[in-house]
This record gives sequence, structure tokens and C-alpha cells, in this order.
Amino acid sequence: MKILALSLFLGCSVQVSAQEDANNVIKAIYTEALGEQQGYKWLHYMCTAIGPRPSGSEAANQAARYTKQMMLEAGADTAWLQPVEVPKWYRGTEWSKAYAGGDSVSLPTTALGGSVPTPKEGLKAEVVEVGSFEELEVLGKDGVEGKIVFYNTYMDHSLISTFNAYGGAVKYRWAGAMEAGKLGAVATVMRSVTLLRDDLPHTGAMSYGDSEVKIPTAAVSWQAADRLNQMLEGGTVELELFLDCGVQGTATNYNMIADFKGSKKPDEIMLVGGHIDSWDLGQGAQDDGAGCVHAMQVPNLMKKVGYKNNRTVRVVLWANEEFGLDGAKEYARWAKSEGVYHWVAMESDAGGDVPRGFGISANDTLLEQVRTFKELLSPYGLHVFAQGGGGADLGPLRGHDDFFIGYRPESQRYFDFHHSARDNINAIHPRSLEMGAASMGALFYLLDNLD
Ligand SMILES: [Zn+2]
Repeated sequence: MKILALSLFLGCSVQVSAQEDANNVIKAIYTEALGEQQGYKWLHYMCTAIGPRPSGSEAANQAARYTKQMMLEAGADTAWLQPVEVPKWYRGTEWSKAYAGGDSVSLPTTALGGSVPTPKEGLKAEVVEVGSFEELEVLGKDGVEGKIVFYNTYMDHSLISTFNAYGGAVKYRWAGAMEAGKLGAVATVMRSVTLLRDDLPHTGAMSYGDSEVKIPTAAVSWQAADRLNQMLEGGTVELELFLDCGVQGTATNYNMIADFKGSKKPDEIMLVGGHIDSWDLGQGAQDDGAGCVHAMQVPNLMKKVGYKNNRTVRVVLWANEEFGLDGAKEYARWAKSEGVYHWVAMESDAGGDVPRGFGISANDTLLEQVRTFKELLSPYGLHVFAQGGGGADLGPLRGHDDFFIGYRPESQRYFDFHHSARDNINAIHPRSLEMGAASMGALFYLLDNLD
């Protein structure tokens, strides 16, 4: 098996020493990552000195300038900032209070990203609870008009993949206000899209689609959703909602692009990236500061262990993933117009927990070649070499390029932090983060040695 793996990834005559060389380089990459913890240092700065980086914010631009400087200091041949027009998101005061039988209860509340504000004096209306869009349809206009719709919807916690569970629940965040608005609702609130039964609300993007009707929409914490549900079991509940928020035109943010030129095939780009923006409630440590520093570590670790890349390693940190993928679209538009050839593109946008492996979109030959790396990488906890993968920011490159990889860390607790105030630097364990950076660095090293 060792001999087979060797001939595939080195493409040269089989020598046991070559396998040993590969093992030594990989070990050096992990040792460097865990020893220096450079990725964690960068992330600590992004989270604590810069902070939340929502769409249109100056903080997102500070992070772009900072990471560009860090890449130049790490030895990038070029690093530049690509302007991207993005919506400017604003969030002010927000709260809600439920009333039933003379009692009132405050509910931890946050506007969903893109929501219109409530009127200046707030709004108050009777609450109607639904567990799905089907239940909303059954209620119809008669049951919904003039009321606040409460989506008491859940991520399916019986699923092994938390990302699949997220996929099933997020439609209520995305389209809940649009669907309820069509039936005359005055606002919507929803159970936060999380698996942690906490008391913090989790935000995230929503859309009104083409609808003329735009009603305010918010998430309440898991525990608040339970309280609201219990109050409704006792009879009529009114909710008072106040949201000061909205999209205030557009602003310029930047993609950060840094190239570490290849010595043999400089025109073959190995792209590695994450998104530089975050939601505004936390510091964007897991989503996606971790992915940014993972990507930055890939060429840095190669340099630090003395490896000279054959192909060009390009780090791209995309602007505004969360609120419309503007950075990814602009990068893809530019890359296509310049005729850039991405030999491979990898994204880390699933947090900074311990590594599990990779999802790979590639032709059968390439997929099999990548799978032969398992023998070299499994001692580091990398066991998943699944078919199919990438990341949201790689989407706009599909159809143009055809080899994509999504880094897959352990994700059972990812949605505890996701889009909430809990997503700060304390959510990151330095060793888990660096194991991820080293895993991506080791994979890129092996890939760079494929023909
Ligand atoms: Zn993300």
C-alpha cells in the first residue's frame, strides 16, 4: 500500500526514502503549527483588536488590511485588496416582551440580517405559533393577518451531520418573513437556528425575495422560544417587538488576495480561502475567522518548514459571504475575465474544531489520488475523504474550474457558536485550530506534488 501511494503522489520511481521524506515534511508542518500557533495569534488579533466584521463595516476593511500585511510579512510575493460593493448592515437596539394574563416576560431577541426595522414606537400584536410552512398555509390569511407569526422550528437533532440539520431549518430564517408577510402577518420571530439550548439569540441572513411586503423579523433564544411556547399553551399571548436595524445603502469592502508564487508551475493556482466578514453579535472567531487563518497558515507553514511550492498558492479571504456572497462573486468574475486557472480551490468555513478530513469534488482519477493520502494523514486524525465538497465562496467558480475541496472539522458543537455572541475568541481552542491549519497545509503539500 505504501508503494502504491508513493507512485501515485510522487509520480517517480518508488523509493522508500521518498515516503519518509513526505512523512517528515508533514510532521514538520504539524510541529510548526502547534509550536508557533501563528494562526491563533492572527485570529486573536482579528477577534479582539478588530472585532465583529459585518457586511459594509470598517472593521471588515481593517481585517483585510491586517491580513494583507501579515501575508506580506509571511513572504507573499504579492498581496492586494480587491474592492467589492456590499450592502451596509446596521443594528441598533432590539428587544421583545411577551404578555399573557397580566404577566410580561422579556425574551432575548435579535433581528435577522436584512430585516426592516419596526416602527419607531415598536409594534405589539397577538402571537400565532407554527411548526412549519405547511402549518402556516393551513392557518391562511384568516389565522395570520395582523398577527406576529412565531416559527417554533428546529434543527433536526437526530441527524449525524449538523450541517444537514442546519440546511433543513434555515429555510424558516431565510423565507419565514416573506411567507408570513404574504398572509398579512405584521412581524415574525423564530426559534434560533442552533442545537445548544441556550439563552442567546442567533442571527443570520434572511430575504424578502421579490415581495413588496417587508415585515420585521427576528430570532429569539432557544430558551425564549420554549417560554413563548409554554405561554401560548396557556392561552392568548401578545408580543411587543422593537428592532432598530436595516440595510443602509452600500459600502466598499475588500477581498484580500495573496500569492506565493510557484517555482515550477506558477500559472497553476492552488487557491485556499475563508471569508473575512462575520455577523455582528460575536467576533466571528469560528465563522469564519478560523477559516481565514487556516488559509493564511497554508503557505506560511510551507515556508516555515522550508518547502518550495511548485504551483502558486493563493490565499483569498472573501468579503461579505454572510449577506450575499458578494466577495466570492466578484473574485470569480475577475478570475474568469483574467483567465485564471485554478488547479484546485479549497475553503475552510466550518469552524476551528479538531480536524476530521475533507470533502472533495473532483473527477474519479483525482479523487482516488487524494484518497491515497489517507494513509499518510490518518495518524493526524484525518479519516474523512468524502466525495463532494467545497464551500459557499467556491460556488461562483463552479462550471469554470472542477477541483474543489472543503475542509471538514468536527462540527457537533459548531452551531452552538454560529452567528451568536458566543462566537468569540474563547470559542477557539488553539490546538484544534492549529491542527486544522496543519491538516490543510499537509494536504496542499501532497497535492502540490501530484502531476
Ligand atoms: Zn461562514
